[in-house]
Formats: sequence, structure tokens, C-alpha cells
Amino acid sequence: MIWIGPPRSPSLRVRSSVSVTMNGIPQSSLAGTIARRIRLGVTVVLLVGFVVTTGALLWDVRTKLGGLRRASTDNAIWMVTQSEVEFLKLQNAMQMALTTLPERRAPLLAEVRRRFDVIYNRVTILEEGPIYAQVTQREENVARLEKLRRFLTEYTPLIDGEDAALAEAMPRFLNDSREAQDHLRILSIGTLTTLNNAAEAQRQSVFDTLMRLGLAMSGLVITLSVSLAMLRQQTLRTRSQAESIRLANARLDTVISTTGEGIIVTDRMGRIQDLNPAAEAMFGHAIAEVRGRDAVSFLCPPDVAETQRAAILKALPRLGGPDEPPIRLELETQRADGERFPIELSLAGTHDAENPRKGIVVGFLRDISERRRTERALARALEDAQAGERAKADFLAVMSHEMRTPLNGMVGAAELLANTRLTRDQRHLVEALESSGRLLLGHVNAVLDITAAQAGAITLHPVAVDVDRLLADCIANQEPAAQANGNTLSLRNLTGPLGRAETDPARLGQIMLNLINNAVKFTRNGSVTVETEYQEDAAGRLLEIRVVDTGPGIPHDEQAHIFDEFVTLETGYARQEGGTGLGLAVARRLAEALGGEIGLESEPGMGSVFWVRIPMPLARAADSAASADERTGAPPSGRRILVIEDNSINRFILRKHLVAAGHQVVEAADGVEGVALAGATPFDVILTDISMPRLNGVDTTRQIRAGAQGGASKGARIIAVTAHALPDELASFRAAGIDDVLIKPISNAALQGAIDGTMDARAADRRPPAATQAPLIDEVRLHELCNELGPGRIAGLLDRVLGEGDATIARIADIAALPDPPENWDEAQRLCHTLAGTAGTFGAARLADALRQAEIAIKTGHADRLTLAGLAPVWSDTRAALVADRSGEVIALSPD
Ligand code: ADP
Repeated sequence: MIWIGPPRSPSLRVRSSVSVTMNGIPQSSLAGTIARRIRLGVTVVLLVGFVVTTGALLWDVRTKLGGLRRASTDNAIWMVTQSEVEFLKLQNAMQMALTTLPERRAPLLAEVRRRFDVIYNRVTILEEGPIYAQVTQREENVARLEKLRRFLTEYTPLIDGEDAALAEAMPRFLNDSREAQDHLRILSIGTLTTLNNAAEAQRQSVFDTLMRLGLAMSGLVITLSVSLAMLRQQTLRTRSQAESIRLANARLDTVISTTGEGIIVTDRMGRIQDLNPAAEAMFGHAIAEVRGRDAVSFLCPPDVAETQRAAILKALPRLGGPDEPPIRLELETQRADGERFPIELSLAGTHDAENPRKGIVVGFLRDISERRRTERALARALEDAQAGERAKADFLAVMSHEMRTPLNGMVGAAELLANTRLTRDQRHLVEALESSGRLLLGHVNAVLDITAAQAGAITLHPVAVDVDRLLADCIANQEPAAQANGNTLSLRNLTGPLGRAETDPARLGQIMLNLINNAVKFTRNGSVTVETEYQEDAAGRLLEIRVVDTGPGIPHDEQAHIFDEFVTLETGYARQEGGTGLGLAVARRLAEALGGEIGLESEPGMGSVFWVRIPMPLARAADSAASADERTGAPPSGRRILVIEDNSINRFILRKHLVAAGHQVVEAADGVEGVALAGATPFDVILTDISMPRLNGVDTTRQIRAGAQGGASKGARIIAVTAHALPDELASFRAAGIDDVLIKPISNAALQGAIDGTMDARAADRRPPAATQAPLIDEVRLHELCNELGPGRIAGLLDRVLGEGDATIARIADIAALPDPPENWDEAQRLCHTLAGTAGTFGAARLADALRQAEIAIKTGHADRLTLAGLAPVWSDTRAALVADRSGEVIALSPD
């Protein structure tokens, strides 16, 4: 079994997909191939050259040898020497003819004639033969040949004539023939020399050619030897490569057959070609039975096969493409026994751009059942943990809220106590009680703020705000603390008065109080300056406020996390001041909620600059007008009411109720502000909190009644709104000029009654005396809770309250239906107590009272079945009201 697919790990896959990709030959092997081709080409050219050269030389040798052969056949030398012999024979015949008697001369003359003809013919042949060209190359030879020819021509008529004439001319003829013979001889010698030279030259040429032939043959032999060597080397290399491939294949085979990961090989049509043992085990099929089958329809459950096939087909074109990341799919598959299980499939394969149907696809399969199980378990664990976290945060939020009311009561009581006649020691103790109470209240408020911020429950109420006044108030508020630490506290508006802008005054005020308070708290005998500057950026108008102090500064390495929760430093007076480390964290969250940012620049020993940048769009004209009206009062109907209350939520809720009843409302954040407003504007009614910073409600009332600051509202109806009112206190309230007292949480009806003066001024009467008189839902309380915890969290909490109520009331009904209920009175009493607490927290006042009465009845032994049965209708009314509130009626209430 030879595996062509890429190896398992993705990094290897990338490399190996290069080696199997047909259009992607690696660089190094490309260079090797080119070099091999060049070598082969050169060898072929050399071989062909040598073969052609050798052939040409052989042909040349053959031709030359042929030439040599013809020269000897011509046998010029022989002919020349033979001509001389012929001349001698002619002269002999002439001699004979001369010396012979005339009557016997005829045959001799015939002999002469024959000999002459022979010579004539020979000379003619000489002239026509190839040797003539060589002989006539020399000029003297030409002259001699001419003379020879002239001799022949001169005597030819005599030869052809009569015997007598011939005989008579014989002596001259003999003489001339001797001369001609001389010419011939000299010609012969010259010719022989020429022929010799020619033959020599030819031999030399043949020799040269043979030498060249020898060289060509050597070249051929060398080239052949080199080719042979190269061939051998190539063979060796191929053999070693084949061996490494065989070893690699063997290794790969071992890996593939022993790996725990399943591997499947299909053709491009998805037909199974191979399964490794792990894949065989995974699916419970042997390769022999599945080879050639369609992989998807065979291995996937029928209901998901086609969608999964579509997913694979969608991924396939990317397969083996250059720069493509490995393809990973999660699929649902099934074993031979029908068991379904999830796998992760990594696809690899060869890619042939020309013919996409060719090639193979290799799938690496991993059974991920275990992983899925772990993921599910982790998700569950995360959900549980988050639910736990939420429950903790909810608990913290509700607890802080629950702690705030009694704390307010304690602080207020301490404040009132401080206003009574006390010994020095008692005063010290009361002051310590009050300041500790305020500190604790600050911490509780901070925790509440941070839990609300973490739940994303900071709800903003942007209105038109007099920013100058807001900052002035903040500074006035911190003035005593600044003085206590020997600091000067001042305001510098770098870009002039700040005017009116649209923002949430409570949130901005909270941030500024935090920053200024830190500055005056950690600086001793220095200065704290609040600088303001309007800036424009792409998003619009921004207000940058910087709180610059000359305090101890903050070490550089601490600056990065100073805005995190629970960070307090050990520097300067920080330790002795104490703190939760929540102030800056809350400020950061508030600044972000306002769409701004917060930061610091600080040099240890030199002081700190805390800055906050908040978007500050100009207030719309209508808002400004409305709020101007609010300031001056003058309602068309209803009453002009001043609300003096330091808690912005309480202010908001009071205003909500009063405006809804048609009254005109102006707000003051504390007693000092209240006295100023009351002095300047005539109000019909003044609602004042008792415990407030700077000036408490009792002193505020005294100053208003005394006509301070203009005394415009001297005769107004003044109502105290407080969380605490001990019977003894009521006397002191009235002595100060307070007409009526409302106990928090206040109901709308009580509020209206107090304003109209239709209710008894005794505080105890403000509390609903019986369950039947309690409102179904104390909306003020629910609003307050909602504002503090955020609508999201309230919705979740209300769901839980509904669940708890359903379960508890059902259980109480079960107990009431038992044949002998008293056996279960203890449980019923406990259930009533618990649900009463929850109901009270969420403002379900009527239910809370009914439950408390039932609890008391059980405790005192006055309870019967009817007592318990009576709870069910109260619950169903309460339930309906809470469901309505949960769906938005109450919790979506906005300031306008
Ligand atoms: P807290 O004041 O309740 O401790 P903060 O979050 O307001 O919490 O402040 C965190 C810490 O940052 C403080 O404990 C103090 O050490 C340091 N810090 C804050 N403001 C200043 C400042 N103006 N100068 C010096 N240190 C400061």
C-alpha cells in the first residue's frame, strides 16, 4: 500500500502538498532538471559532431586513396619513358632504313611509319590525358611540347607520302627526331618530378586527413566514455533515490497503519480507495468491503449525508491550491453498528488544475466525541459559574441597598443626637458615630454603584444642566474638607463660563465629588484647583475638567491600575485616610457611561492631575426654558414645591410624583441651597430631607422660618421626609417649624395627603396601619431599587421573586390543607418570615404586611387555616402587579 497523501500534521501537509502539486515543482529540483538537460544536450551535440566529422574524414580518405589509385593507373611515368623507348625504336628503324639497300627498304620504311604513328598517338594521348595539365603548368614544358608537336606535324605528310620522299628525307628526319627526343626526355624528367611532387602532396594530404580522423575518433571515444560515466552516475543516483523512497514509503506505511488517527483515501469522485487500520476500527468496516463505495453515503447517517456532502464539495475546489490553509470540517458519521459519532475531518489531496476530476483526496479523521463531551461539560460549568457570579453580585447589590436605609437612619439619628444637649464626651462619641456611619454609608454606596456599573445598569437621565452651578456646588460641598486639611480649593474656567449643557447632573456631580474629595483628602496644606476647558473634536463639544492638586502624587507603576476596583495605595496620607479603593473605579465607569474618558498625570512628590473629558452638547432651548421655569416657579396650576434632598434618586422619585400630580417642582441638593432658593422664591410647599450634608433638615427649616436670604418662603408648608422619626424627635421637628413628617419609603397617597395638609401630622400615621391599607406595590420603593440596580438586574430579580412566591404560597397552601396543620406551623412561620423579607425589599407592601401578620399570628398561637388560606389571593394580586411592573410599566419609567 503506497500512500501518496500528505502526512498528518498541518505543517507537514503544507510542505508535502507542494511535492504532490503538479503545477508546483520545487525550486531545487527545477535547477537540477535544467542542469541535467543542458548536460544531455551538450553530450548529444558533441556525439553528433564527432560522428559527422568522422564520416566526412572517412569519405575524404576514401576519395584521396581513389585519387592515388588513378594516378598509378594513368601511369604517366611509364608513358613518358615508353615514348622515349618508342623514339629509340623509331630511330633504329630509320637507321636501318638508311643503311639498307633501296630494294629492301620498303618493309623498313613501313616499320618507320608504324613507329612514327605509335609516337604520334602517344603524344596525342599525352596531350589529352590528365597529366598534360600538370606538365603544361611550366612554360618551358609548353614550348618543348609545341616543338614536339611541330616535329610530328612537319613529318606527318612525309610519313603519309611516297617511300622515295621518305627515304630521301630520312637523314634530316633522323636528325630532327633526335632533337625531338631530347625535348621529350627533358619533358619526361620534368613531368616525373612534377608527378612525384604531386604524389608526395597527395600522400601528405591523406596523412593529414588520417591524423584528423584519428583525433575525431579519440574525441568520439572520450565523449562516449564521459556519457557512459554520467549514465552510470545517474543510474546510481536513481537507485539510491528509489531506495530512499522505498524506505520513506515503508516508514509512512508503518506510521499510517499504526497511527491512532483514521485516514481515508478517495478519488476525486469520493469513491473510497483506502482506509488505514485506525479508520477501519473507527467505522467497523474492513477496506476490502468498502473499496469503491461512495464515502459520504457509506460513512454518514442518511439524514445528514447530503448536507455534509454539500459542505465537502464546497471545500474541495480549494484543495491542494497554492496558499490554501488546510480544510477542516466537523461531520456527523456512523459506525457499522449504526452508532453515530462526531469527527473532525482534515482534507488534503492532489490537485490537477487541468483535470479537476483526476487526483486523490486524503481525509484525516479524528473521533471528537470526547472533545464534544468536554466542551459541553465546560459550557455547563461556565454557565453555573456565571450564574453563581450573578447570584453573588445580586446578593451584594440587594444587601448594599438593604444596608443603606438603616444606615441612613443611624446617621440621621446621630445627627439629630448631635443637635441635643450633650456632654463633651458624649458629643465626641456621637460625632465619631456620625462620621463612621457616613464613611460606612459611602462604602455601601460605592459597592452599590460598582455592582450596578458591572451589571451595565448605569441608567442616564440627561437633562439641561447649569454646569457652572453644578461645579460650584461640588466645590462648596468639599470646601470644609479642604479647609480641614489646610488646602485652598479654587475653580478656574479657562474658556469662560460653562453655561448650560445636556448631561446627567447626578453622574457628573458624583465623578467630580470623587475627584475633588480625593484631591483634598490626600493633600495637606497645599492647593486644589479645578480647571475647566471646552474642547471641540470630531464628535462634538467636550468638556475637560482637571482636578489639579499639590499632594503626594502617584507612583508611575501604580498609575496604570489606579482606576481598577479595590486599589488603594500606601503613599502619602492614603493609609491614614483609608477607603475602599472603589471611588476612582466608580468614576471611571460613570465617565464611560457618559460617553467620556478619565485619566491622570502625576509626578510622585509633585502632585496629581486627574482629568475627565465628557461630551457636553449644548442644552436644547426648550430644555433650558423648561428648567428656567422650574427655577422660578409660577405654575399655571398646582403648587410651587421645593424639594430639598441630597439623594438624587429620592429627588427624582419625589419630582416624578409631584409633577404627575400637576405641581411645579424645583430641586435643591442640600440645606444651604434650599435656604437660598426658599429665600429668593416664594414656594407653597417645601419638602425637606432631614439628614443632609452641610445643613440638616431641622436647621434648614429654622433658617427658612427665620426669613434667611430674603425670606420669600417663610410661611410655606414644610414637610420633613425622613427614614427615621422617633416619637421624641417629632417634637423637635415641630419646634423647628416642620408642619408634617413623611416616613420613607413614602407612598404617593401619603405624599399628596401631606402636601394638601389633609393628613394628620403625626408621623406614625404616615405608616400604613394595617395590611388592607398597604398599597399592593410600593412603587417608590420599587423605583428606587430599580434605579439603583438597573432595569436588567431588576427584571432577573423579579423573575426569582415570582418563582419564590409561587413556591412558598403553594407550600403554605399545602400546609393549610393538611389534616392537622399545627404540626407544620413551624415551617409555615419560617416560610412567611422569609417571603415577607423578599416582598418588603421589592415593594410588595400588602403581601409583606399580610405575611408578617400571619407570622405573628402563628407565633402568638392565633393562627388558623383561614389565616394561611388568606395569603393566596394577596399573592395572586401582587403577582399580577409585579408581572406588569416587570414587563416595563415601573422599571422603564424615565425622568421625563
Ligand atoms: P479610595 O479613595 O476610596 O481609597 P479611590 O479609587 O478613590 O479609592 O482611590 C484609590 C487610591 O488612589 C487612593 O487610595 C489613593 O491612594 C490614590 N489617590 C487617589 N487620588 C489621589 C490624589 N489626588 N493624590 C494622591 N493619591 C490619590
